Amino acid sequence: MRVRALLTPDWQPSSTLAQLPLDQFEAQGIKALVLDVDRTLLPRRQATPPAAMVAWLRNAAERMPIHLLSNNPSRRRIGTVADQLAVPYTTSAAKPRRAALRRVLAELGMPAYQVALVGDRVFTDVLAGNRLGLFTVLVKPIDPQGEPCRHDHLQSLELRMARWVGTALG
Ligand SMILES: [Mg+2]
Repeated sequence: MRVRALLTPDWQPSSTLAQLPLDQFEAQGIKALVLDVDRTLLPRRQATPPAAMVAWLRNAAERMPIHLLSNNPSRRRIGTVADQLAVPYTTSAAKPRRAALRRVLAELGMPAYQVALVGDRVFTDVLAGNRLGLFTVLVKPIDPQGEPCRHDHLQSLELRMARWVGTALG
């Protein structure tokens, strides 16, 4: 049960981040967002987020603090997006390890339950967030047009593995 809980997002909408109503976060009592970057904000092999994503992020950043938390080591790739939005960021975060996320929480100065971690991966994003008690959101990864990836084999595989691990170790 414990393992299964760690691998289960608090919210699993069948949509991308840009399609999520901000009001829903606020209704949950969420006061800050920690966002994964690759395939959550940025399509694979693209350096700029789709226009609808930028609009969503700008709107969100006006309402609450945002931190970009990426396992990607590229300061150029992650920093360019962060600078475009004027928000802080962390590269080489080593999710699901907790150290980088702990630093972000300390910087925000908020209890974990008031902070949402949004990402497209179960074994990095969701697991890291759940280990520290954040409100975890598993979104659909985005394709180059900013639409939900139709064939996201990786997330499907992770969800199957999470169920298997949860059952086997339950
Ligand atoms: Mg990702």
